Amino acid sequence: MTSSPFETVDCVVIGAGVVGLAVARALALAGREVIVVEAAEGIGTETSSRNSEVIHAGIYYPKGSLMARTCVAGRRLLYAYCKEHGVPHRNCGKLIVATNEAESEKLAEIKGRAEANGVEGMRLLSATEAIAMEPNLQCTAALLSPATGIIDSHSYMLALQGDAEACGAMYAFHSPVEAARVANAGIDLEVGGAEPMKLRCRLVVNSAGLHAPTLAKKIVGLPSDRVPQAYYAKGNYFTLTGRSPFSRLIYPVPVPGGLGVHITVDMGGQAKFGPDVEWIDGIDYTVDPHRADKFYAAVRRYWPGLRDGALQPGYAGIRPKTVPQGAPAQDFVIQGPADHGVPGLINLFGIESPGLTASLALAEQVRDIALT
Ligand SMILES: Cc1cc2nc3c(=O)[nH]c(=O)nc-3n(C[C@H](O)[C@H](O)[C@H](O)COP(=O)(O)OP(=O)(O)OC[C@H]3O[C@@H](n4cnc5c(N)ncnc54)[C@H](O)[C@@H]3O)c2cc1C
Repeated sequence: MTSSPFETVDCVVIGAGVVGLAVARALALAGREVIVVEAAEGIGTETSSRNSEVIHAGIYYPKGSLMARTCVAGRRLLYAYCKEHGVPHRNCGKLIVATNEAESEKLAEIKGRAEANGVEGMRLLSATEAIAMEPNLQCTAALLSPATGIIDSHSYMLALQGDAEACGAMYAFHSPVEAARVANAGIDLEVGGAEPMKLRCRLVVNSAGLHAPTLAKKIVGLPSDRVPQAYYAKGNYFTLTGRSPFSRLIYPVPVPGGLGVHITVDMGGQAKFGPDVEWIDGIDYTVDPHRADKFYAAVRRYWPGLRDGALQPGYAGIRPKTVPQGAPAQDFVIQGPADHGVPGLINLFGIESPGLTASLALAEQVRDIALT
């Protein structure tokens, strides 16, 4: 009798981005044996380090959507987690600013949607009130979101990794999952890299971010019609030389596909503008300096003091979309056995913004599916 080349493990999380790390932590805290397999050299090298690092309040998403529910719940969990674990963060608040009458009218609608989602403290402001708070601002009205904040996302990810490790979770870097198959007693994974492994897993969580649909398509035995097509919407950032002119985050009224060119500050004090929305066919993080022209125009609508030459190309992140340009907005997808019929497999698709904010709440949902 030949022995199986597969090593048996309880849970494998594919991907050490912020969501995979939060899921690994939740499973490890629940007493499960967990291995995180990550293609890159360390944690959070893809979308989780290419975002705005904003703790979103939960304002824009349709009521009852997974985005709305996990953003509001995740935000509350995240503030508490940051306080408990000493993760640098700041509850600085945000202003959504209208620059004409048509936009001013939209603010009340945005406030209503936020309140329906359970967002606390939203307040409509006159132009005078907003400019008293932020003297460099130009606007016709504004909406204050006191629950919004910023976070040092890398410190957060390190804390999640440490929590899971303290409960026995293990991490394998340089370990891309190359093949997978539904087996009798779970899912078989073939992991490449310097130290290839063959793992027979009771539970696999596909948290591969931009690559989650491609990976799911490789799982022999998973019905392919359950796997969405992957689309990519790049968000480019430009950084500001010099100090931020605002103490809060400043957002315009949202545009289709994104939140509009906004100004945020990171915990190091660096002010940045973006992300814009650029639909692309493949993964490419280069920032075209010519896009700055549109940034100047967009930002000067609410900050006329932006000087020529003040913006420098920064970085880009890519939104993992499950719907093409022009289609109605997507929701997060957590796909478990009840959805695709494969025991022991959970796929996470379309985890774009506010995935950082929602990470702890998404992790709880995945854990609950895994434990039932
Ligand atoms: C432009 C932009 C701005 C954003 N701003 C915010 C914000 O301000 N606030 C907020 O809450 N959210 C924001 N988000 C969303 C947030 O960044 C994401 O939801 C979150 O980072 C997704 O984390 P993840 O773990 O799902 O994916 P990722 O961070 O992409 O991690 C996936 C991991 O899987 C690994 N992987 C892929 N394939 C394999 C394989 N075959 N084998 C092994 N490993 C594999 C990758 O190497 C990667 O490390 C933003 C997103 C974008 C694009």
